[in-house]
Amino acid sequence: MNSVEQARAIVFRHARPPQPERWRLLDSQGLVLAENVTSPVDSPPFDKATMDGYAVLSEDIATGEAELELAEEITAGQIPTLPVTSGKTSRIMTGAPMPEGADAVVIVERSELVSGEPPPARIRLRDATVRPGLNVIARGTTVRRGDRVLSNGRLIGPIEVGVLSEIGVTEIAVFRTPVVTVLATGDELVSADTTPAPGQIRNSNGPMLAALAERAGGRVVNLGIARDDADELKRLIQQGLESDVLVLSGGVSAGVLDIVPDVFARLGIRQVFHKVRLKPGKPLWFGVSAGDGAQTLVFGLPGNPVSSFVCFELFVRPTVARLAGRPPGNLDLQPAVLATDHHHRGDRPTFYPGKCSGEHGADGKVHVEPLPWHGSTDLFTLAYADCLIVFPPGDRFFSAGERIDIYPLGGSALSHEKR
Ligand code: AMP
Ligand code: MG
Repeated sequence: MNSVEQARAIVFRHARPPQPERWRLLDSQGLVLAENVTSPVDSPPFDKATMDGYAVLSEDIATGEAELELAEEITAGQIPTLPVTSGKTSRIMTGAPMPEGADAVVIVERSELVSGEPPPARIRLRDATVRPGLNVIARGTTVRRGDRVLSNGRLIGPIEVGVLSEIGVTEIAVFRTPVVTVLATGDELVSADTTPAPGQIRNSNGPMLAALAERAGGRVVNLGIARDDADELKRLIQQGLESDVLVLSGGVSAGVLDIVPDVFARLGIRQVFHKVRLKPGKPLWFGVSAGDGAQTLVFGLPGNPVSSFVCFELFVRPTVARLAGRPPGNLDLQPAVLATDHHHRGDRPTFYPGKCSGEHGADGKVHVEPLPWHGSTDLFTLAYADCLIVFPPGDRFFSAGERIDIYPLGGSALSHEKR
């Protein structure tokens, strides 16, 4: 049986690197940039006023006051027609290009009309702070032509859309969002909005896995619930093979109705491994379907909700991120110190819900407390965890203060409350 690390390496080997596609910028939010973008232009494209006021030669106001002759008025979008020479000024609005000769703007609040008629008007300016560059932003200050603006791997969000628009980049190379199909299996399942009959339970995995897949960077197709019936499973799995990743929950253990691997085989989905040295999550099934060019990575997760969660977190999340061109996020174990005594027994490494007490203890180490967990059916305790404590296999007593590895849940930390 493969270890978690071995199994993950095998899955990654089957996850093809994503192919860049060119998309319109306006359709690219939420996608990952697949190129380095350099600016084809300077921004701002000209020296411009950042305040409404008067464009001046700063040395004209060296004493803090001057009376100047008005040359013209320049609004944003216009270009100046007259230079500003000593003794002259042009009225200028925010965003307008600076006239030749002027090197500063005195804000309008520090001006006073001395005489308007007959033209030219005379303006008195009072400002002791005037120096070259005051209230002016020079061409190319925020970005220069040829500067790297955004790098490969960057998630496109609203600010990226703004930045690229500013420099006239309206089409970019991105990685397509992988499609992840989710299917819960089990005769006992009803949807969450249904009252279960005796013996039935609500489908919690389907919605949870769909939410996880979306957060991992996938576009989710949720196929709902399949009965433990070969024909129904076959039909729905076939539908799932149109996506990049198919995630099933349930039906991969050793029960009489755990027929999912059988149906996979009948559909020509090649098993890569079944079972991983892990608790909870041992029955994890992974395989690949290769249709006409399009490949689907198929994960059969065990049905208990925490098993499903742990398998998704350890294997599916980084795979979806990889297909989306996103960084895989945390995969490494981190050292911590047990905050309380704990007796642990298990034949496999166990990923056990834990809570870190703040960032670091007085000793500079992360202290972690095992939560009172009821096993792989207990999703409620997981809701109070911010990490999984990795207990090694064996039957032994761990004392407070012992060093132990944890797997931080990052975005999965749900609550600061105590359970
Ligand atoms: P299985 O892996 O199909 O043997 O299921 C193991 C356990 O998980 C059983 O108790 C199931 O009832 C439960 N289970 C399976 N699928 C789900 C689901 N989608 N939501 C909640 N519990 C489930
Ligand atoms: Mg089942």
